[in-house]
Amino acid sequence: MGTHISRPAADLRPNAPRTQPPLGPACKADPESWSLDHGGLPDWLRAIRICVTGCPLVQQCWEARNRLYPTEHPVGVIWAGTAYTDTGEPLLTQQALVEYASDGNCRRRQRRTVAA
Ligand code: SF4
Repeated sequence: MGTHISRPAADLRPNAPRTQPPLGPACKADPESWSLDHGGLPDWLRAIRICVTGCPLVQQCWEARNRLYPTEHPVGVIWAGTAYTDTGEPLLTQQALVEYASDGNCRRRQRRTVAA
């Protein structure tokens, strides 16, 4: 009978590479997923969820957003869990996100950019 090893054997080698935690926030590694010019509703909802439930920097991110945009809003991005349209309108509810997406404000814009 063999011994049960719960981790892959490769992990037990003395010089085996260790799994590193991701460097920086998810939006830094995958900026397109935080842009409303790319993807669509499922992508935006996923990015918002990561901001709100999975990013340890959300508080600092929100403070930075307020510092950089004290009187207006960022444009066409998801920032600290809030999505902003291409005119800087915050989409504060899921309904607002759905309506924005169904107005074709996602992949249609990508096609327009490619065609230009
Ligand atoms: S909270 Fe800010 S830093 Fe964190 S993933 Fe969202 S946008 Fe990026």
